[in-house]
Amino acid sequence: MTRSAWKGTAGTLAAAGLLLFAAGRQGISAQDAGAKAAAAVPAAAPLHGYSPASSKAERDLEKKFAAIPSSDRARDWHRIFTAEPHPAASPRNNELARIIAAEWKKQGWDEVTLREYDVWHSAPKSAALEMTAPSHYVAGLREDAYDADPDTKNPSIPSAYMGFSASGEVTAPVIYAHSGNPEDYELLKKNGIDPRGKIAMVRYSNPYSYRGFKALTAQRMGVAALIIYSDPAEDGYVKGKVFPDGPWGPESHIQHGAITYDFMVPGDPQTPGWASVPGARRIPIEEAVSVPKVICLPIPWRDAKPLLENMNGPEVPKDWQGGLPIKYRLGGAVEAHLKVEMEDGVKPYYVVDARMIGAELPDEWVVMGNHRDAWVFGGVDPSSGTATMMELTRALGELHKQGWRPKRTLIINSWDGEEYGLTGSTEWGEQFADELRAKGVAYLNVDSSTSGPNLHATGVPSLAPLLVEVSRAVEDSPGVSLYDSWKKSAADRKKVDDEEESPDGKLVNVEIGSGSDHTVFLNFDGVSSVGLGFSGPYGVYHSAYDNFYWMNHFGDPGYHYHALMSRYWGQLALRLSQADVLPFDFGIYGAALREFVKQVDKRTGLAAHVDVAPLLAAIGQLEAAGRAFTEQAAAAAASGRADAATLAAVNRASLAYERNWLDQAGIPGRPWFKHLIYACRYTYAHLELPRLAEPAEAADWPAAKVQADRIRQAVAANTALLTQASATLKSAAGSRP
Ligand SMILES: [Zn+2]
Repeated sequence: MTRSAWKGTAGTLAAAGLLLFAAGRQGISAQDAGAKAAAAVPAAAPLHGYSPASSKAERDLEKKFAAIPSSDRARDWHRIFTAEPHPAASPRNNELARIIAAEWKKQGWDEVTLREYDVWHSAPKSAALEMTAPSHYVAGLREDAYDADPDTKNPSIPSAYMGFSASGEVTAPVIYAHSGNPEDYELLKKNGIDPRGKIAMVRYSNPYSYRGFKALTAQRMGVAALIIYSDPAEDGYVKGKVFPDGPWGPESHIQHGAITYDFMVPGDPQTPGWASVPGARRIPIEEAVSVPKVICLPIPWRDAKPLLENMNGPEVPKDWQGGLPIKYRLGGAVEAHLKVEMEDGVKPYYVVDARMIGAELPDEWVVMGNHRDAWVFGGVDPSSGTATMMELTRALGELHKQGWRPKRTLIINSWDGEEYGLTGSTEWGEQFADELRAKGVAYLNVDSSTSGPNLHATGVPSLAPLLVEVSRAVEDSPGVSLYDSWKKSAADRKKVDDEEESPDGKLVNVEIGSGSDHTVFLNFDGVSSVGLGFSGPYGVYHSAYDNFYWMNHFGDPGYHYHALMSRYWGQLALRLSQADVLPFDFGIYGAALREFVKQVDKRTGLAAHVDVAPLLAAIGQLEAAGRAFTEQAAAAAASGRADAATLAAVNRASLAYERNWLDQAGIPGRPWFKHLIYACRYTYAHLELPRLAEPAEAADWPAAKVQADRIRQAVAANTALLTQASATLKSAAGSRP
């Protein structure tokens, strides 16, 4: 569900103005940006976290690795994954799990395990929508077949449905509620329109907001049922040519999806906070807070148009007008009959887990993952990522067969049921919570790897410089590094946004929401997380047209970006797994925290009500301690003379830092979300410093004051951690001959 995930935060990269790190540190100086010819050739300076000797070995290893992923093979894999619809719990999706497991064994991974989780699942039985007044219209609720693309004729393509919709039947007046946000219903009420008992029709909104929030809002407003349609202004002909002639959605395309309230608690709704291994304790479904109670159906604009054009109520405000050639109105005259039948119950989901055990540090884990389940064929979401993953695992397996073994343990997972509620990854992250909190170095997520050529990278601030550094070592085309093309596409985006060229510090988005499989790792287990993907014009998200044909004609003909992502993702994993000291940057994390506090203040006027000086002072100390530790740790690695015990102490401190942001009590109202710095809003969008931001946004200043102090304590604990680790480094350096 990548669109809601990392791209729920798109645009904020520019808006946030986060300049986290500029030129200066070895390997990422902005002045070198023009040196194209040299850029793809690694510089001679030691890599961050490596000695000169280990740098050389690492560069050689990455070179060998990078030569293996193949565009042609990625295309072959993509055809296999997109051959049939494969939603969670379907026989085809389970078959793909077995295919992946068998392939990973063949590729040479040490341990391959098919893990079963028994989870609450929701499958479609039937759906019908008809306009009963003022005239009669029966909605088709099907996506058209095209001769150009035989896959569109597949009889297994589902009709319209929404995962976790309530079942039921209603006949009621239809109102148009724009994006279905609370302020939209307020406007309706101001116009004398009571949403209670009505069928609310809303559009998928731009900027994107998670459909589960629309459902929750509708439920709170007391509507009888919710219809969400795809307006051509968002992803159709208003944007450009439509499928099969272009990348945008045609009149019959349906954006399927789930409406689970997984921003309350993700994963199996009946096992909040523990794993759904077979036989696990389950809470009654009536007590599960993440299960919606509203009837919901997605429809294409072709089925929305007759309803919209028959309305005769008040005209909408200007910004509510959509892309159809009609006058949009708030409601009036239109009545409809809607019936949705779902089949709910416990079903097995399968996560495929492959491991390559570390030769020297088996108890430090670098974890990667991609989800397998798709609403239909999943051309972009997620099968591009799955094809990318299979080339990544093949390349690592190839090195392993040649006798290489990683220094730290590498783990890769094919997740299940991400689309329904981040379910497979959440259950896995809950099952291995103790180990992840002890051993987790990083989690590198790729959901959709490719819908175009523009790289997007999101991650915790401590890993932002590494994401840039590694992009310089990845060749996009001969003589052009991934870093070069990333800078260029970021600069092009900025020009559109009327901003100047993007400095390195702005390349990585450090504002992390939810909506993909990184969530459990960051928010529940406190593991530093990253999400990667290439994007482009894409209007068929979660529809039957998100498929093999779409990818071959629009998204990535030639599969260059699929294989490029295999290399970038893999080289990141290798850089983390092989390092002498883990290449985190804690100075930058501190700087980001200050920025986050400033943003809360800017939005809410926090500082006028709560003295934030002690918090900012503590953050200043954290940043200074972080900078000192990062420099000393890198210097210790670069010297090549640090002893194993010192390196181990440094790495332990690095892992403890992210973990220290966990507060087992969780954030108020959502105890599953335990990270003090990161959470998501109810829309999936990023929400930094949730414990401070939520009371400040509600103008609850006494609570904000208490929380500011709680965060200050956690900041101080991490300052003490890094100061102590720096002292260890200093005394070790002093005692070296
Ligand atoms: Zn996805």
